[in-house]
Amino acid sequence: MSGDGEHPPGARLIGGRYRLLARLGAGPSGTVWRARDEQEGRDVAVKEPVLPGRSAADEESRRFAHRLNREARTAARVRHPSVVALHDVVLDGGLPWIVMELVGGESLREAVRRGPLPPAEAARVGLAVLGALRAAHAVGIVHRDLKPENVLIESGTGRVVVTDLGTGDGPAADVPAGFAAPERAAGRGAGPASDLWSLGALLAGAVEGGDVGPLRPLLTRLHAPDPGARPTAEEVAAALEACATVPAARPAPAAPARTPAPEPHP
Ligand code: ATP
Repeated sequence: MSGDGEHPPGARLIGGRYRLLARLGAGPSGTVWRARDEQEGRDVAVKEPVLPGRSAADEESRRFAHRLNREARTAARVRHPSVVALHDVVLDGGLPWIVMELVGGESLREAVRRGPLPPAEAARVGLAVLGALRAAHAVGIVHRDLKPENVLIESGTGRVVVTDLGTGDGPAADVPAGFAAPERAAGRGAGPASDLWSLGALLAGAVEGGDVGPLRPLLTRLHAPDPGARPTAEEVAAALEACATVPAARPAPAAPARTPAPEPHP
């Protein structure tokens, strides 16, 4: 269907360029589609935002669209191998649709459903996510919505890719229980240390039910209620690097290639 210019009859074209092919997933803030960039001749992922108001024309929705557009453009400044590449933001139907690199694989949430990760593999994922966070923090962006659904693992290469950077400034209630730092959940705002708290929660979830031992001291420190008491990014990196070299008790499960079943397009 893709790659040869063919598409389902009636498939919607966004911004006069991106043909929606199949629905990849949906979260509280929108639906993600696999789409064909007809100009470049490649497949991409396109996020269709969900409006807070009733129509694209009402005041709340207009403000939301404006903010999302600005945030997506800000997030596009972060260039890192573990940050999803943002290609474009197109206005369609009054909404900013975010066009990004298509990552073929599965999310950390899906990977963990098969069983806990060995500590060394969790540390490898953690180091990649930490690299993405540090690149974002260096340009003043806080992720605010780090959770296993937003960490993709590319099949074949094992590359770890963080999505939804800097666009998660909705209420902390949108973040699944246990992944928002206490200061964010209490409405006191989020800083880089809040992302490190979420990284700790992400890693704790990845090894839960398995061998937590090597990571436990780091996880305890990352869960300090006071953001100032949490380890620095450098300390987290050093602790994860030490764990990443611990031999795995069993080989890391290979991520199966995702072949999304085409669903009806709009
Ligand atoms: P929200 O962002 O609304 O909080 P979410 O993080 O659960 O929700 P989305 O970002 O909307 O979900 O993404 C939904 C699903 O789409 C993800 O779980 C992921 O499987 C898939 N997805 C998102 N971005 C990409 C991408 N760039 N390439 C491939 N799949 C992606």
